[in-house]
Amino acid sequence: MLKGKTALVTGSTSGIGLGIAKALAAQGANIVLNGFGDVEGPKAEIAALGVKVAYHGADMSKPAEIEDMIKFVQAQFGQVDILVNNAGIQHVARVENFPIERWDAIIAINMSSAFHATRLALPAMQKANWGRIINVASVHGLVASAEKSAYVTAKHGVVGLTKVTALENATTGVTCNAICPGWVLTPLVQKQVDAKAAAGGISNAEATKQLLGEKEPSLQFTTPEELGALAVFFCSPAGNNVRGVAWNMDGGWTAQ
Ligand code: NAD
Repeated sequence: MLKGKTALVTGSTSGIGLGIAKALAAQGANIVLNGFGDVEGPKAEIAALGVKVAYHGADMSKPAEIEDMIKFVQAQFGQVDILVNNAGIQHVARVENFPIERWDAIIAINMSSAFHATRLALPAMQKANWGRIINVASVHGLVASAEKSAYVTAKHGVVGLTKVTALENATTGVTCNAICPGWVLTPLVQKQVDAKAAAGGISNAEATKQLLGEKEPSLQFTTPEELGALAVFFCSPAGNNVRGVAWNMDGGWTAQ
C-alpha cells in the first residue's frame, strides 16, 4: 500500500518508533530512522522487510540538526511523504523540584521538535498534495498525572499542534493526526517500573502490576505493533478524511 512512499520516523531506534517504522515498512514504505543507541540492529530489521532504509542521527532538541535531517531525506529519497514525530523522553519530579534543564529538554524533544519537523516537511507534502503527519502524543496529551509537568505540558502542546496542522491543510491531501498511547512497555516505561520497584522494595512483576492497576483498566500494555497498525490506518485511503484526531490506545485509561 505504501510502496514508493518515504517515511521519516523520529526516535525510531527503539520502542514505539521502531514498531511504527516496521509497520510502515511492511506496507512497502522506505524508512529513515533517527534516534540514539544501536542503529545497525534496527536498520537490519527494516531492511529485512525489503525496503530501503537510511539513518540520520539528528538530536531532536536542535532545530539546525532537524533541518539537516529533512534535507538529507529529500536528497536521498526526494521528499518526506510520511512524518512520524515520535522522539520523546521522560522525567518525573514535582513542579517545585523539577530540574530546569530537564524541563527545557522535554519541551524541546517532545514538543518543539514536532513543530520544526512539521514546518520543514510540509511544503513538499503540500506540493505533492499528499502527506501524512502522525504525532505520537500520549494519554498525557489529554489528561495529567502528578510529577510529569513537562511531559504533560509537551504532550498537550503536541495535540494542539496536531489540530492546527490538520486545519491548515484540511482541503488538501495532507492529514495530521495524533496517537495517544497509554502504557507501552518500552525502555522509557521500564525505567518507571524499575523506579517503582526500588522505591517500594517490591519485585519488578509487582511494580508492573501496580503501574497498570493505577491507570489502565485493561491491565495490559499497548504494544508497538498495535500502534504501528494505527499509523498504517492513518496512511491508508480510509484515513483520507481523518483529520486532527487524538486517538487513544490506552486500555480505557481516559474513559474513566
Ligand atoms: P523509547 O525510550 O523506547 O524511545 C525513544 C526514542 O527517542 C529512542 O529511539 C531514542 O533514541 C529517541 N530519542 C530520545 N531523545 C532523542 C533526541 N534528543 N533526539 C533524537 N532521538 C531521541 O521510548 P518510547 O516509549 O518508545 O517513546 C516513544 C514516544 O512514545 C515518546 O514520544 C513517548 O513520549 C511516547 N509515549 C510512550 C508511552 C509508553 O508508555 N512507552 C506512552 C505514551 C506515549
